[in-house]
Amino acid sequence: MLARLGPDPLRNLPGDRDAFAAAILARRTPLAALLMDQKVIAGIGNVYRAELLFRQGLHPWLPGAGLAADTARRLWDDTVGMMSDGVRDGRIITTPPRYWSGGGGDASDGASPGVLAASLPVPEESHFVYRRHGLDCRDCGTPVALTELAARKLYWCPACQAP
Ligand SMILES: [Zn+2]
Repeated sequence: MLARLGPDPLRNLPGDRDAFAAAILARRTPLAALLMDQKVIAGIGNVYRAELLFRQGLHPWLPGAGLAADTARRLWDDTVGMMSDGVRDGRIITTPPRYWSGGGGDASDGASPGVLAASLPVPEESHFVYRRHGLDCRDCGTPVALTELAARKLYWCPACQAP
């Protein structure tokens, strides 16, 4: 018997965002576990899970039901954006160009978005928290933490993602 899959961010069909938000808000399970549940959202994976929670400043153990509806919908939109970028770039890059030290350009230099997209960051500047445990958080300098959640490694910033 096939379990029904949750909405797929790479398709982002009409109604998907609301279906995702409803599935999150209906559960008391920690957010980080819900994001790995294929019935809630399809194909998000461990890198996007960690980066998404960081970008939205969300504590991984926050129960789904503890989110505001707007926050749940914003989670969906951010996932759609990141995963579409990943398909375009052929790599998972979750940091914006202002976090890149070289080649990424500067948002203030007047370069067109196309120029920025053409120059990608070095791998170690591509993520906020994923595989960065023990290193300084890019935003606040707190060491990035590593925990196991839903049998997968979870990277997060205890300060930026405080409960
Ligand atoms: Zn931080």
